[in-house]
Amino acid sequence: MITRFSQLFLRTLRDDPADAEVPSHKLLVRAGYVRRIAPGIYSWLPLGLRVLRNVEQVVREEMNAIGGQEILLPALLPREPYESTNRWTEYGDGLFRLKDRKGADMMLGPTHEEIFALTVKGEYNSYKDLPVILYQIQTKYRDEERPRAGILRGREFVMKDSYSFDTTDEGLSEAYGKHRAAYQKIFARLNVEHVIVSATSGAMGGSASEEFLAVSEVGEDTYVHSTESDYAANVEAVVTPAPPAIELDGLPAAQVFDTPDAPTIDTLVAWANEGADGASVLGREVTAGDTLKNILVKTRVPGGDWELLGVGVPGDREVDFKRLEASLEPTEVALLEAEDFAKYPFLVKGYIGPKALLANEVRYLVDPRVVDGTAWITGADAQGQHVVNLTAGRDFVADGTIEAAEVRDGDASPDGKGVLRSARGIEIGHIFQLGRKYTDAFEVDVLGENGKPVRLTQGSYGVGVSRLVAVIAEQQHDDKGLRWPKGIAPFDVHVVIANKDEGAWSGAESLAAELDGAGLQVLLDDRKASPGIKFKDSELLGVPTVVVVGRGWADGVVELRDRLTGESREIAIAEAAAEIV
Ligand code: ATP
Ligand code: MG
Ligand code: MG
Ligand code: MG
Repeated sequence: MITRFSQLFLRTLRDDPADAEVPSHKLLVRAGYVRRIAPGIYSWLPLGLRVLRNVEQVVREEMNAIGGQEILLPALLPREPYESTNRWTEYGDGLFRLKDRKGADMMLGPTHEEIFALTVKGEYNSYKDLPVILYQIQTKYRDEERPRAGILRGREFVMKDSYSFDTTDEGLSEAYGKHRAAYQKIFARLNVEHVIVSATSGAMGGSASEEFLAVSEVGEDTYVHSTESDYAANVEAVVTPAPPAIELDGLPAAQVFDTPDAPTIDTLVAWANEGADGASVLGREVTAGDTLKNILVKTRVPGGDWELLGVGVPGDREVDFKRLEASLEPTEVALLEAEDFAKYPFLVKGYIGPKALLANEVRYLVDPRVVDGTAWITGADAQGQHVVNLTAGRDFVADGTIEAAEVRDGDASPDGKGVLRSARGIEIGHIFQLGRKYTDAFEVDVLGENGKPVRLTQGSYGVGVSRLVAVIAEQQHDDKGLRWPKGIAPFDVHVVIANKDEGAWSGAESLAAELDGAGLQVLLDDRKASPGIKFKDSELLGVPTVVVVGRGWADGVVELRDRLTGESREIAIAEAAAEIV
């Protein structure tokens, strides 16, 4: 069906809205794509809705391509499931809470890990049912502290959220990998320039997590990337916020070592003998050739209890156990595999945090303990000994003085390749390997192959669908207006009638009909406005292909304008449709 501008529910504005700071916000409002109802709450008008639906469709196709099954959960939710996971409280002011007529607590869903876990629990009971990927494209609610830039940070917004459920950790990694690849395809199809960065897990919990950030100066996220490798991380994952003052009294002094090299086996033995009062954990024995990589280490004096001793350094800083083997005698060292990290979330939190670790300076964290509900661990880096507050996650305190560690431009990249540069980005996607945080909370088990129950492991993967509309506008606009990629634009072609001649008018109509017949979405500017006004609007609206039926009509030509490149050329009327399709 041809859309006639004269009938279209659209009024473009000459001036920028007073509350708009970023270009995408100004343009989407001026071009009549969205209208503000309240801070962070917007209506989608015809053109905006078309773009939103197109973005949704790309996301849907790529989710279906990895075997995702679309479902739709309610946005209005009861309190209880979120109470079970403590998120009713943890979400703080960000959660929209309300009461029903009977006084029961209700909420508007900000994200749906809980409900998906419960949904799977309700339907599946055998390992044979797994794996499964479920997703929805749905309206989410978050009472953002600073709703900003129109639909870029809304309080009501559209998200694609998917969740994978598996019986094994390998299955979870596979589902994570599928989503990572699908997201790369989605953002490529949407023409969004982006980077993939390591991220913190935030309120979600869990371990492995990456964000997709659209490169943009107006972004609220800062990331660092190496000049010589593909290392990139959100600074949230590496910056240490100023910690609260802490009471160091009562914490036993820890071993200090001042060498930047791995401690000698004698040091390890000394620690073990002095009996770090750490958790006793199960692990396998170390054999010659084992490497210390992304693992926790524990030791014991033969015959004694296992003691948690330290945390291995990641990446290329592997410690070769062969080197230590010779002196392993009075102490055995065992490895705790990464999959066991979930049992010690407080350690993992501390492990991924401090700047010193990013710079590969932290060698060992020893002596974990809990004092008055706060988990502490003693660590050491090249500067000496530190006591780390693990409960707070990333607080880092040296010798009782507070140190707020930050990375800046020019720091060495943690992978040893190149230096770090910082840039701004807008979060457009986020993938998490949640593990069993939510399935534990709801005891989501299936019967395993051996007849015993197996606890499922979960992944959570989000795409900011409505945010992407603003992101594309932000990355693609010019000073005249919006510029949509093909396939995302509200229309495929915008036919502008810029000639009062009746023949031109009916010629434009039949050209539009021909294009429409070929399956294109056609906007026909049939208003009785001046060509100047129509041209300005065509630039503002940003349809990729504009056909001007103007003065050239008499000579048998129309003008073809490419909104993205700004190029224009004349083509014969007879060939126009074939050329455009
Ligand atoms: P942000 O850091 O921008 O606040 P988030 O980390 O809180 O985002 P997630 O919980 O990871 O967001 O949600 C998944 C995706 O939903 C995000 O990657 C983002 O694209 C989108 N999103 C989150 N909050 C908003 C919002 N207020 N408005 C629009 N999109 C949002
Ligand atoms: Mg947020
Ligand atoms: Mg975020
Ligand atoms: Mg996120």
